Amino acid sequence: MASRVIPVDPFDLVIFGGTGDLAKRKILPALYRRFCAGQMPGDAKIIGAARSEHDAEEYRAFAHDAIQEFSDPQACSEAGLTAFLNRLDYVTIDARGEDGWAELADKLTERRVRAFYFSVGPGLFGDLAERIHSHGMVTDDTRIVVEKPFGHDLPTARELNKTLAAHFDEGQIYRIDHYLGKETVQNLMAVRFGNMLFEPLWNSQYVDHIQITVAETVGVGGRGEYYDKSGAMRDMVQNHLMQLLCLIAMEPPAKFDPDAVRDEKLKVIRALGEVLPHHIVRGQYEADPEGPQAHGSYRDAVGNPRSRTESYIALKTHIDNWRWAGTPFYLRTGKRLKARSSVINVMFKDTPHSIFGDEAGRHANVLSIRLQPNEGITLQVTIKEPGPGGMRLIDVPLDMTFSETLAPEDADFPDAYERLIMDVIRGNQTLFMRGDEVEAAWAWTDPIIAGWEARNDVPKPYDSGSAGPRDAELLIQRDKREWRGITP
Ligand code: NAD
Repeated sequence: MASRVIPVDPFDLVIFGGTGDLAKRKILPALYRRFCAGQMPGDAKIIGAARSEHDAEEYRAFAHDAIQEFSDPQACSEAGLTAFLNRLDYVTIDARGEDGWAELADKLTERRVRAFYFSVGPGLFGDLAERIHSHGMVTDDTRIVVEKPFGHDLPTARELNKTLAAHFDEGQIYRIDHYLGKETVQNLMAVRFGNMLFEPLWNSQYVDHIQITVAETVGVGGRGEYYDKSGAMRDMVQNHLMQLLCLIAMEPPAKFDPDAVRDEKLKVIRALGEVLPHHIVRGQYEADPEGPQAHGSYRDAVGNPRSRTESYIALKTHIDNWRWAGTPFYLRTGKRLKARSSVINVMFKDTPHSIFGDEAGRHANVLSIRLQPNEGITLQVTIKEPGPGGMRLIDVPLDMTFSETLAPEDADFPDAYERLIMDVIRGNQTLFMRGDEVEAAWAWTDPIIAGWEARNDVPKPYDSGSAGPRDAELLIQRDKREWRGITP
């Protein structure tokens, strides 16, 4: 079955920070792929806007190289690639000054969707919002896309919301979390709310606990200075893991509509319980001078030998409502772990009684929602081991993505950025965070961070290529449970 592509309306997209790393690795390749898939109208305009001096030709060469490196240049024919590059233009602009703004305003088309992508440091979001507004570029069909991080804590997030709200309605603001753009995240909603099978079991009576793991093999890379002021809690838990938790735990919305979905997510965040100090484990990776990816320690990478910032965090939390009372949620994320793996495991309770006697080889059901790599959903079920010789039981994964049937190798499924950018153009905010959601997430996060700062908590060292600090194992083992393995 081929994927169906519904073209979006003609649009102008301005990428502030159009020469930056995100534009190069994600935004331009994503636009190119949607163009090749036939989703982007032929007269769409993409305008790079950044501080460095370039002309349109140079920007096309930049985009060409980005596509060569980070996309499949063969996604289009040679003529298609040229046609895409011809959609590109460039303006040298200073977010904090007046240079370039009049030129940008001249390049925009009247009466069509306008999207301004803020792919610059968050310190410039306010300046951009203000200038877009003061140069008269805001129309009814205007949207802004705001990258993470959205604030550093609750006061800064509030301030940022206030700044944006001075120039744009909430319905025009698209706060991006690329985890929400993943095929499997949407499939999770389809599986939960499109079937009778799961929803009756989706509560503390049948679910023993839930694990959310986002493991990375990379270190902090070139982001050391930023990361050391942030840490895993701010960089990953407050946004990505929180969003996944919301989608797993939320009540069924009345309809699949942006505000109905986001209202339910907000209720989950507001119902999150206090996290006790002994339910948090923070870690920092150690050096691995001899491994295949030889590297220094976290403290070397950020250039701060006394850093107490965590590159790993595991915590146990709970949701104070009827559905989830008694079901713990275990969250963990970290860098330099044994495999790159983002997965949610819904661990069901065991059967109340065994009729088979010795049940070695079987376990309780597990629904695994895997976001990367190899996106997919599997349900671990018990069956009889085929063959003669009595009733031997085994666990087998039931693949619920049906990828073989629904996604043949040549199917062109959009990745997260592709899907989200097209949603911006279509004006669909379902997969974007609303301002109150972000603030509620910080309101839960801030006291946790303040708590460990007041305790002078020192992160536990962990080996690169491991599953994290030993204390994280103990965190779950104390409850007579085990983490699922971190596997690629
Ligand atoms: P970058 O440093 O590579 O690029 C910054 C861009 O902003 C450049 O194009 C630069 O010319 C432009 N810029 C800087 N100052 C300017 C000014 N005064 N006026 C106009 N343009 C100016 O940054 P990046 O990695 O591309 O990140 C951009 C944003 O996306 C940041 O908010 C970052 O946190 C976020 N983000 C990046 C990634 C990533 O993978 N790179 C992932 C998630 C979020």
